[in-house]
Amino acid sequence: MNLLVNDWIPVTHQGRFRHISLKDLLCKNEDWQISLNRDDMELAALQLVICLVQVVFMPDDGKELRRRMETPLTEDEFETGIAKFPDMFVLDHPEHPFMQTRGVEAKEITSMQKLFIGLPEGNNHAFFNETGEVVWTCPSCTVIAIFNQANNCPSFGGGFKGTLRGAAPITTFAYGKTLRETIWLNILDETWVEQILPEPEQRQEKPVWVDPIQKDKTVYSHEIGLLRGLLWQPAHIEIIWAVEEKACNACGEISLVLASGFNKEKFSYELKGIWPHPHGPRAWTIEKGERKERFTSFRSMSPAWTQLNEFLIFHESEDSGQVPAAVISRFKDTFMQDNLSLIVGGYRTKQASVLQRRHDLISMSAGWAGKLATVEKFIGLALEFKELVRKKMYGFGKTVGVTGLAAKAEELFYQRSESLIHDRLHKMNWRESAVEFVNMYVELKAVCGAVFEEIAAPYQNDPKMITALVRSRKTFTGAMNKLKPSI
Ligand SMILES: [Zn+2]
Repeated sequence: MNLLVNDWIPVTHQGRFRHISLKDLLCKNEDWQISLNRDDMELAALQLVICLVQVVFMPDDGKELRRRMETPLTEDEFETGIAKFPDMFVLDHPEHPFMQTRGVEAKEITSMQKLFIGLPEGNNHAFFNETGEVVWTCPSCTVIAIFNQANNCPSFGGGFKGTLRGAAPITTFAYGKTLRETIWLNILDETWVEQILPEPEQRQEKPVWVDPIQKDKTVYSHEIGLLRGLLWQPAHIEIIWAVEEKACNACGEISLVLASGFNKEKFSYELKGIWPHPHGPRAWTIEKGERKERFTSFRSMSPAWTQLNEFLIFHESEDSGQVPAAVISRFKDTFMQDNLSLIVGGYRTKQASVLQRRHDLISMSAGWAGKLATVEKFIGLALEFKELVRKKMYGFGKTVGVTGLAAKAEELFYQRSESLIHDRLHKMNWRESAVEFVNMYVELKAVCGAVFEEIAAPYQNDPKMITALVRSRKTFTGAMNKLKPSI
């Protein structure tokens, strides 16, 4: 299967599932939606298409990019683009199969399930599926799973290297009105790419399955170019194919060729530096005189909006900084007047175990790009309220000898505030931000008040606790009043 030629992109069109080709997607103007039964695999499919388009059809400048967004590619333009990569993206190539290594030696075959993160193979039991659920996968699901494992998931375990972005990076994309628009919204033109990858050796390069990383070599991030970095494969794997007519266990489509497992072998190298991957935000701090930089992960159960500032706002001081994904920074600069629907996805992990699969869409009304200080203040205010109710319930719990109230308060706060925060960001009139700010203060105060009363309710009638409760309520109200914004 050649990813530039064959039908592999899983979509629904007018309620019907099918696989389409890259040519269909880029040369036609249809209302397709990427469609699989897991949102993380849908995001991986989208990201893989974006990576291919970025590499094969990179526009020279912003003007060309806009034209691409407005008008589908002609068939001639498409054929000219892919002609430069005749056999580079072929999943079953006899010598250099896409994101694999030929001749991998392994004592036993690993089941396909291992590539579908979170399924019970090894120590990932997060999503409560049964062992043996994914045995056969079609070429489309196989390539999406290989790509996702190599770029967005923890490594296979000890002795295996992980992604270029660390164990569980967050991916952020702008979401468009159509799939074709979504693709182009997340493509960087050459002027942007030259800014983030300025070294001349990053221009001419081959992917790791054509020009392999040498064993135990030190790889410097500034040597890694766009194609190699976007389609990085840190592991040595080789898919085993079977010619049989069966339904794919992941998407349900009948396929004549299916993957039945894969071989993997340990392989090590050392990566020095951070490759500025354009699809995710990252942050840095100075620790003991050294700059420590890492891609942002989901740190807790808290919803994605709590990290919105990191996703959108560039910030740098002497000892710390945060850098949004380049595709989001480009969107901000290019579409200053537009609204943004931000796709946020990733996994929350603890070492190699996946605890949670995360996928959110955050809508920001038009005008946000010129009001980043206000965005920052909004998110800051909501987080201050959360901290206030959490701390207050912690203190109350200590006084009355009950544990776990702070965590309960935090969880309830997130549940109750989630829709109002999303609603406000979605409908916000950024020109009237002072009024909006006051309205949000009132709403959050009501949420926090309700959370306090709900958690305190079981102790209302206990004479031993009533004094502590009255005192807590009073200081809590006082502290909330102090957060009140002035116009
Ligand atoms: Zn499938």
